[in-house]
Amino acid sequence: MKRRRSRNPQDGFTLIELLIVIAIMGTFLMLALPTYKGAVANAQNQSCKVNKRMVITALEVYAAENGGAYPAQATALTDLENKGYLREVPSCPLGGTYSVEISSDGKKIDVKCSRHDASS
Ligand SMILES: [Zn+2]
Repeated sequence: MKRRRSRNPQDGFTLIELLIVIAIMGTFLMLALPTYKGAVANAQNQSCKVNKRMVITALEVYAAENGGAYPAQATALTDLENKGYLREVPSCPLGGTYSVEISSDGKKIDVKCSRHDASS
């Protein structure tokens, strides 16, 4: 019977051992990557929703302090910033821009993101 050669700790790892470890790490990475990408996309989505909610809240505060009148739709975001209702106009994590939609009777206000609300 062939005796197994004892390893000298100074020899290090063989190429096969290193390749096996790299292959295992690559497999774990392949399994984790879609989950990571999904989590990042979800976080960006939620961040965009919070930004839109913040603009709507600022619009409601503006209306409450100005006799129920909203700022002009086209300049609403800069008006909110200039008059101190928003510290700064929020930006979408994907680089989209926000637009404000106010119905003519002023009862329905909505904020759309050019990246997240483009399809709907
Ligand atoms: Zn967005």
